[in-house]
Amino acid sequence: MARFIFVTGGVVSSLGKGLTAASIGALLQARGYKVLLRKLEPYINVDPGTMSPFQHGEVFVTDDGAETDLDLGHYERFTGVTTTCHDAISTGRIYSEVITKERRGDYLGATVQVIPHITDEIKRSILVNSEDVDFVIIEIGGTVGDIEGLPFLEALRQLRNDLGFNNTLSVHVTLVPYIPTAGELKTKPTQHSVKELQSKGIQPDILLCRSDREIGVEERRKLALFCNIKPECVIEGLDVPTIYQVPISYHQQGLDTEVCKHFGLDALTSPDLSIWEKISSAVKKPEGEVTIAVVGKYTSLVDAYKSLNEALVHGGIANRVKVNLEWIDAEEFEEGGQTALIEKLGHVHGILVPGGFGKRGTDGMIVAIEFARKRNIPFFGICLGMQMTVLEAMRNMAGLEAADSTEFNEKTNAPVIAMLTEWMRGELLQRHQADGDMGGTMRVGAYDCAMTKGSKVAEIYGKDLISERHRHRYEVNATFAEELEKEGLRVTGTSPDGELPEIVEREDHPWFVAVQFHPEFKSRPFKPHPLFASFIEAAIHQERLI
Ligand code: GLN
Repeated sequence: MARFIFVTGGVVSSLGKGLTAASIGALLQARGYKVLLRKLEPYINVDPGTMSPFQHGEVFVTDDGAETDLDLGHYERFTGVTTTCHDAISTGRIYSEVITKERRGDYLGATVQVIPHITDEIKRSILVNSEDVDFVIIEIGGTVGDIEGLPFLEALRQLRNDLGFNNTLSVHVTLVPYIPTAGELKTKPTQHSVKELQSKGIQPDILLCRSDREIGVEERRKLALFCNIKPECVIEGLDVPTIYQVPISYHQQGLDTEVCKHFGLDALTSPDLSIWEKISSAVKKPEGEVTIAVVGKYTSLVDAYKSLNEALVHGGIANRVKVNLEWIDAEEFEEGGQTALIEKLGHVHGILVPGGFGKRGTDGMIVAIEFARKRNIPFFGICLGMQMTVLEAMRNMAGLEAADSTEFNEKTNAPVIAMLTEWMRGELLQRHQADGDMGGTMRVGAYDCAMTKGSKVAEIYGKDLISERHRHRYEVNATFAEELEKEGLRVTGTSPDGELPEIVEREDHPWFVAVQFHPEFKSRPFKPHPLFASFIEAAIHQERLI
């Protein structure tokens, strides 16, 4: 049977619970165990697919097409384990399951209640498909004390009883702040947070205390005493120069040793942390640097492009360079003319236009793409970025000024980017209605893409058939492919049936590739994505035309 580790948080949000859960996973893997990571989300949305990236950050997409929280991205990047729709469980999803069962009559006339019906559904979701792993690590979103989180904590309390205390472990992540006027680290917020957790019937076994400086012996003793925890189970979580050092730093603090001791497993043998040492040294001791401009829509919130950010760092790791990112709101290029372009893009080694929704900023993206094309600056377009690359070629080169996407202009008579209502997924016909609910109109999840032999992308990937993750409603209209090719923009990747353009590239440019999918979701620090590695390599060697 799998052992279960629950990760809760207290005092404030944004303490890096997701990274903690992911790092525990990485450390257990480094000891040879098989792990699975899951996130419980207290919000009422069924999934974050319909939430604004400004509010919620990136929507991370799984192979099987679930739209999930960005923490699942951390889980995949730290463990390499492919997440599934079972690994993101929101209150909205739990309730919708329970209500469906109630309507079906599954509860045989019972009054449906939070306890036991909602908590049973939460427990079922935690346990599903967990038979084949040694550890399931469950992160609970939000902080203890949130009203929305109560049913989840109650389910954890019950599960610890159901499964036995030796088979479960509770890790609580808190903040130990430094108060300059007192010149002291304060343990009281942590004490209160643990009391709150205890009032729900959960005694934490390990405290992970985030702090900006070392936690002294005296404070540790106090935390252990007041929180009813062994002193060696008070783990210090200091800020580190790169997130990829977190597993090493937690290991040095004894985190995985305490986890193993709790479960009665061998704690004496050291884990093999060589991959994390290699990655951290590549990030901390780069041999050069490049600057990449990301010209997008949600640039004011870095979390909105979390996986993209990390994939670019991975591209740097592959080439042993530091990648400086400059986030530019595409709207800035809509009015500023050449002066704004030179000022913002004059010094960069590469330009990337990422995904996004809605018209705002898209004209600015097209201006940036034209700049990259004409000046031989390495260019990478992703999803909306690919669609805008195609519009740039059609408007500025093929002379079809009216070229548009039906996302921005439903009535356009030049629908170069348009919504399809049917497409193939392997052998299966997929369908969506343009007037269906928002959650149901996306092409989302992993799809195969066949590449043209001899193309730049086939060479970069080193194969002809790939599988990448998608999340979009609109597609490049294949009837324009010939026209695009005349302008030097070749479609070099399509769905296996040839119907949906997936990749475009230019041969007359040092590095100019745009893709309909999101390659950033599959990049790992220990296995940088080939497109990002190649893009950064091109940025290092770029010779722009002024
Ligand atoms: N808005 C575009 C579409 O829906 C692109 C989506 C994206 O970039 N993820 O097709």
